[in-house]
Amino acid sequence: MNEVQNPKKPFYYYYGIVFIFIFLFNALLLPQIAKRAVKEVDYGTFMKMTYDQEIGEVEIQDNQILFTNKEGTSVYKTGLVQDPGLTERLYDNGAAFSSEIVEEMSPLMSFFVGWILPMIIFIGIGQLLSRQMMKKMGGGNSMMFGMGGSKAKVYVKSSQGIHFSDVAGEDEAKENLAEIIDYLHNPDKYKEIGASMPKGILLVGPPGTGKTMLAKAVAGEADVPFFSMSGSEFVEMFVGMGASKVRDLFKQAKEKAPCIVFIDEIDAIGKKRDGQIGGNDEREQTLNQLLTEMDGFEGNNGVIILAATNRPESLDPALLRPGRFDRRVPVELPDLKGREEILKVHARKIKLSEDADFGKIARMASGASGAELANIINEAALRAVRDGRTFVGQSDLEESIEVVIAGYQKKNAILTDKEKRIVAYHEIGHALVAAKQSNSAPVQKITIVPRTSGALGYTMQVEEGNHYLMSKEEIENKIATYTGGRAAEEIAFGSVTTGASNDIEQATKLARAMITRYGMSKDFDMVAMETVTNQYLGGDASLACSVETQTKIDTQVVELVKHQHEKAGQILLENKDKLDELAQFLYEKETITGEEFMEILNR
Ligand code: ADP
Ligand code: ZN
Repeated sequence: MNEVQNPKKPFYYYYGIVFIFIFLFNALLLPQIAKRAVKEVDYGTFMKMTYDQEIGEVEIQDNQILFTNKEGTSVYKTGLVQDPGLTERLYDNGAAFSSEIVEEMSPLMSFFVGWILPMIIFIGIGQLLSRQMMKKMGGGNSMMFGMGGSKAKVYVKSSQGIHFSDVAGEDEAKENLAEIIDYLHNPDKYKEIGASMPKGILLVGPPGTGKTMLAKAVAGEADVPFFSMSGSEFVEMFVGMGASKVRDLFKQAKEKAPCIVFIDEIDAIGKKRDGQIGGNDEREQTLNQLLTEMDGFEGNNGVIILAATNRPESLDPALLRPGRFDRRVPVELPDLKGREEILKVHARKIKLSEDADFGKIARMASGASGAELANIINEAALRAVRDGRTFVGQSDLEESIEVVIAGYQKKNAILTDKEKRIVAYHEIGHALVAAKQSNSAPVQKITIVPRTSGALGYTMQVEEGNHYLMSKEEIENKIATYTGGRAAEEIAFGSVTTGASNDIEQATKLARAMITRYGMSKDFDMVAMETVTNQYLGGDASLACSVETQTKIDTQVVELVKHQHEKAGQILLENKDKLDELAQFLYEKETITGEEFMEILNR
């Protein structure tokens, strides 16, 4: 592995580019500029100027005449014509004869125009481009673009006073990082025993779970400088820029030690090097430089590198080996308690009314990340302002969950009467099947107001607490619930619509997972037929079995979903009168709450 490669090469590139630029400038542009300094006029003008006594100095050359105006500010030239009395006439009209009117610029001038000016222009263009690149990347910081030696300046951001108390939940991650803080406070304690801190710590988890916040909080708690850069910021237009930025980053960090260096989205540079043709040179050089820097400083020098990623499996193994990013801190989506705490942390900033119940909101927003929860609070505050209230109430919070998760209400999307009726039956179908199966979560609210996300209706289910395990029956019931919408359409209208596409997708996903990953099929026992590749980003799975088995899997998935679909239909048929009554209610009111739903159901 060529990890310890020094990217010297690029600097020659820059010099090369500058020289080519200057050469072209001299060859093509300079003559134009030089010529323009001498104005060419016709002989008549020359004669006229002579008679008008406007000529200062004149030089008669072999094939042309050069002359200046009286003030000597501009130089003219004209062709030579047979003109016997020329010299006398010029003398009579007060022209001075000279042999020093030069067509070319003075050497100093031409050096300036030919060499210094293009260099200034070139650097100017470079600056401009790099500024624009920075802006595009959302950096907006004071990164400098220099030539060759490239003094990329990495901004030293204060930790903005973020502390662990600002990061709610994530207790395991905090515990993990507490050691680092202790070390930064008191490195001698560790040195005495001979323990060395890990140089690099990888924060791994889905987007918006607070990885950046945690890194800042470590710096805030330890009260040390915080250097932050995003992986994508390293990858620049020119090969070699990224590597020199890494070098500068570490140089500055070492000067400011003890400190925290945070690299966000490290997968942007740390992707597995595959050695393919057309591979990304710049990225690999940047990665090499990062590895070199990490090896270069001895442990215990007080620089701790934190990096964040949501794609740990795509990282280069060289990054993860001991002595580099050898410690992994998982930062998971918050559980119920975590969600409640995050809501409370963010609610500190807003004015709340008495009725706000974060426990309920947290339960409604199951699966939401910290960033989404922060967004929910903010949307609620915005809604309160829109409605001219001075406090944020529970209804604001509930509506903003729907906004964040399902999109804004689409006020001007008009469903036809028939469509509205179908959507009402569809959504009630889901809810009724869910409610009738004891293991499914009860519904919180159903609306058939179209959303900007494209959903026509929306059923919010509430989980009573956290589920870490799901039984086979629970998953089957969930599949039945997904098919309940379609089943209701079939029963009420005898035909089907496209409205169930998302349900179909979800039901299939669950059924497949049961068979290929959870060992819940009758034939495959505890054999994994699929492996999950992208755990933190949706969890794509790839099949790992023979073609024959795939066929069997497909058959079983179809069988499973079909069976649940039939079950859902059965449940709805048995409760046909309730289905009609509830659908009518929803059709008229457009929204039905969980209590109203249960009240009608149990009437
Ligand atoms: P990541 O780096 O994991 O993508 P960030 O740290 O940038 O996520 O978090 C984005 C925002 O989400 C933060 O600015 C914060 O407002 C909110 N947030 C996320 N997790 C938490 C948490 N555990 N506690 C409080 N706020 C959080
Ligand atoms: Zn549906």
